[in-house]
Amino acid sequence: MGDHQADRRAGVDVRDASDLPDADTIAAIATPPGQGGVGIVRISGPDAAPIVTQLTGSAPAPRRPQFRHFRDADGRAIDAGLVLYFPGPGSFTGEDVIELQGHGGAVVMQLLLARVLELGARLARPGEFSERAFHNGRMDLVQAEAVADLIGSTTAAAARAAVRSLDGAFSETVDGFQRTLTELRVFVEAAIDFPEEEIDFLADGEIERRTRTVATELGALIDRARQGRLLRDGLVIAIVGRPNAGKSSLLNALAQRDTAIVTAIPGTTRDVLREQIQLDGIPLHLVDTAGLRETEDEVEREGVRRALAELDRADHVLLVVDDGEPDTPEFAALDGRTNVTVLRNKIDLTDRDPGQAATENGWASLAISAQTGAGLDQLRATLKAAAGASEGAEGTFMARARHIDALRRAADHVDLAITRLADDRAGELAAEELRLAQQHLGDLTGEFSSDDLLGEIFSSFCIGK
Ligand code: GDP
Repeated sequence: MGDHQADRRAGVDVRDASDLPDADTIAAIATPPGQGGVGIVRISGPDAAPIVTQLTGSAPAPRRPQFRHFRDADGRAIDAGLVLYFPGPGSFTGEDVIELQGHGGAVVMQLLLARVLELGARLARPGEFSERAFHNGRMDLVQAEAVADLIGSTTAAAARAAVRSLDGAFSETVDGFQRTLTELRVFVEAAIDFPEEEIDFLADGEIERRTRTVATELGALIDRARQGRLLRDGLVIAIVGRPNAGKSSLLNALAQRDTAIVTAIPGTTRDVLREQIQLDGIPLHLVDTAGLRETEDEVEREGVRRALAELDRADHVLLVVDDGEPDTPEFAALDGRTNVTVLRNKIDLTDRDPGQAATENGWASLAISAQTGAGLDQLRATLKAAAGASEGAEGTFMARARHIDALRRAADHVDLAITRLADDRAGELAAEELRLAQQHLGDLTGEFSSDDLLGEIFSSFCIGK
């Protein structure tokens, strides 16, 4: 894969489709279900052109839109539309690709697809077009994932970041690390193999210094990737507190919609309610949990158990307390957690000023009223800060948890390499750590990824991608 990656950027096409083990021809409806002005059936593989020749009665011409009738086995027209033929290897998948642009009706698209399958194509699996693009070196794994992320973007900021990843911004940075690590390994191994050389790379600290630079830069890349992940996945925020503290009201106030049942009877929010809102392009997943309290009620006890489980999954916890209630026994349930903000709610009844209040139990505290909306602007600012959103996320690329995990693993091995060099002067062991760091980076771009991982990633795409 490595050479293919390099070639991809040099604009050179690498493999031809016939090298592929499963070079059959696939087809799928590429436009969303439902009605639209235009619907597209996409075909990829060696038989794309012959199939379309039979479908339309004439051979498609490369890279030039042609108006044709699409005909069934009896020669009756199914539809009329454009044929777009992109011969491999310079196509999206690297194979011969044909797009049939017909009218976007559910039945007409199904008939057109059925005819294409009848003529010898196989129905594509979810993500199979992108998978072929990846296998043919047209894009790496990060870019293939960016295709799915761009389509799935829920905010404009996320879409911009996905395009940047698709253009290779993330991949090129990772490739840069791969090259630097390769150089370092060459140095370390040269120092091991030729200890009598005049310059002892290991002894003069040069390799160690350069490895430290890699560690620092990798740390910065992890931070950028975290921002990217935030744009994609957002932040999970659990809202907890005693029944009647005002959790559902707060969820509604933030979401400005009536999803939770707000009543004055304690313990009505028995299940976990979820709501997604946007804060400057960052998706926030708000989770309203059942009240935290001892209870005999089976159903509610289950709710409390779920509340605690949600807490463990949450990036940030909002503990809602009634400002008019003197006791705060729920503090004990959250002891030891650091990602908590106390919200003193119902200040419209207690006349407390909205906004920043004195720290409680080591946690930041804000005075709000879910009912009047007082203090909610400060709360939104707090949530943004908790998200670690840096101002102007321009230049952020799209990243997934998988990517951050791989980067962290790589960084751990780089750190170990530094220890080996600095403390142990153990060149062989350092070289091995650098190799493992490269392996994790290769995992990220798909260079060394297992078939299982690839299968898992591409199968989460939808059909036609
Ligand atoms: P939950 O059980 O924690 O979800 O609490 P709810 O959101 O159901 O609220 C319980 C009661 O408190 C309801 O009658 C709300 O209208 C009321 N409430 C919630 N927030 C406020 C507030 O800021 N001010 C006042 N005055 N009442 C509130």
